[in-house]
Amino acid sequence: MSGKITAGRAALKVIEDWGVKQIYGIPAGSLNSVMDNMYKEQSDLEFIQVRHEEVGALAASMQYKYSGNIGVALGSGGPGATHLMNGLYDAREDGVPLLAIIGTRPLKEVNIDGFQELNQNPIYSDVSVYNVRVAYAEQLPKIIDRAIREAIAKGGPATIEVPVDFGWTEIDEDSWYSSASSYREFENPPLNKEDISKAVELLQEAERPVIYAGIGTRGHGADILDLSNKLKAPIVTTGKNYDTFDFDSISFMGSAGRVGWKPGNEIIEEADTILFAGSDYPFLESGGIFDGKKFIQIDINAGQLGKRRAVDAAILGDAGSVIRELTEKIEEVPESAWYRASIENNKNWREYMTNIETKEAGDLQAYQIFNAINQYADEDAIYSVDVGNVTQHSVRHLHLTPKNLWRTSPKFATMGNGLPGAIAAKLEFPDRQAWNLSGDGGFSMVMQDVVTMVQYKLPSIHVVFSNRMYGFIKREQEETNKNPFFGVDFGVPVDYAKIGEAQGAVGYTITSIEDVKDVFEKAIEDEKDGKVVVIDAKITNEQPIPVENKDLILDPEIYTEEEIQEYKDRFEAWNLKPFREFLEAEGLSSTKNN
Ligand code: FAD
Repeated sequence: MSGKITAGRAALKVIEDWGVKQIYGIPAGSLNSVMDNMYKEQSDLEFIQVRHEEVGALAASMQYKYSGNIGVALGSGGPGATHLMNGLYDAREDGVPLLAIIGTRPLKEVNIDGFQELNQNPIYSDVSVYNVRVAYAEQLPKIIDRAIREAIAKGGPATIEVPVDFGWTEIDEDSWYSSASSYREFENPPLNKEDISKAVELLQEAERPVIYAGIGTRGHGADILDLSNKLKAPIVTTGKNYDTFDFDSISFMGSAGRVGWKPGNEIIEEADTILFAGSDYPFLESGGIFDGKKFIQIDINAGQLGKRRAVDAAILGDAGSVIRELTEKIEEVPESAWYRASIENNKNWREYMTNIETKEAGDLQAYQIFNAINQYADEDAIYSVDVGNVTQHSVRHLHLTPKNLWRTSPKFATMGNGLPGAIAAKLEFPDRQAWNLSGDGGFSMVMQDVVTMVQYKLPSIHVVFSNRMYGFIKREQEETNKNPFFGVDFGVPVDYAKIGEAQGAVGYTITSIEDVKDVFEKAIEDEKDGKVVVIDAKITNEQPIPVENKDLILDPEIYTEEEIQEYKDRFEAWNLKPFREFLEAEGLSSTKNN
């Protein structure tokens, strides 16, 4: 005869069997049976008590982005569950599996318009790839198992509503199982020879080829570099795939768009052929930046081919395999004027970045802080980057290699993901250095959870780029609004070092370039000593240089001397040159005319 087990414990055993190590959340009446069973289970499954459910859900989402391990977040029926929303949407937008367990009243008390009771399934139907209420206790472990399987297979959040009494109900020990060991990944599709030949033909004919490498190329930076060398094609990446490449590779030209590099934007504009590999560049104008060019798209998902614009060659397949196949088939192209001009332009931009990063005098800017991070961080440091100007700064000024992990909330782009990401990073990789790089806007949304890192002894360094405004939006207002800036500046200065100290962290404030070295040396020592450190970097409120083609005011064929001087003075860009100069030096002409 089968023994008995509570449905809640059986569910936890299923979760563990799928390799989950932590569950993030806050206890609540509707989650009491979960907590009771977690206590009884006495397993390796650790409950991480966060101070806001949103932090738990974001940590669960970020966890998968770092390690590929599914994260689990709890939300109590009603407010605790709705607090999960940003983490769930972050996961959905990035195709991240996540299990959200949301509580509700005992089954006999649902549908009575009771305390904290909501009709929850409809609320989570948009965000979830799987979304059900467990109907009876025996179903609980089965539904949890199915939810995890669906989340992983479909790449998104699964939301399970559990009446609280089910967790305590005894079920037969042999009435449930975990399907974790049966899970199989899809094999990469075989490559279509004709599609490969078409792409080779277009690339071989190209006079100005560019490799546009999205996240589908993650882990294949070296293969992309081989193709780039053979084809003499500069590499542009997306603002999600930054750590696939070695910052020092001179054919690597950052990303395009606002959160991009000047060369990244310019070479896309001047290119004649784009190899668009494993990307879903989400900006409406994306059709625009690739218009008039031969467009070869590689994607592993058939539904993505041709999604953003018409293609000249479509290849279904894993980007790494396709890139290696193309490299093998392509005949080596001799060094071209296009490639040389692109490299010289890139050097000019890199000099600009180095100059502002290494300034020794003047007001403290974000750039000198990034210079210190580059100098002092471990070579395999993990970065959790919040959303706003700090995202833009980090894709330009953080010198990464594939040894690092760099993650943000790239598509949903929610502020407040930085600190939860650091929690997840440190839990997943306890031996690696974890950095949270946040603006003061993003940090303010989640700063109560510094104490979570202190409580669970998760040494980490949190840099708050404190410019006392929502800088990214202020820049947008500068472009679009007819009235003066509104609602973007912070009225009262906040001492983030003290906020850290109040929660048991070590706090430092930096107000000048001279302070940077001393504070970073101490912070690194503290972190190595097992402490959580909050650095409040009081930076200037100036904007990062805008480099989208419409914003680049450098070309004398298009702008007046005064306009160019004003742009250079504002962004300290006295030695920055338009791509046209480098193209013309190589005997090529620029297509840019407005
Ligand atoms: P995804 O959107 O995830 O697309 C990946 C594609 O690759 C999908 O189509 C998928 O099917 C496919 N794929 C997955 N695996 C494989 C594989 N193995 N082989 C082949 N295909 C595969 N980004 C910019 O580039 N420029 C910006 O200016 C910019 N601004 C931003 C501003 C902010 C404030 C923030 C937070 C982010 C910004 N981003 C920017 C990021 C941007 O929003 C997108 O998230 C990012 O560009 C998407 O990158 P992706 O196309 O590589 O990834």
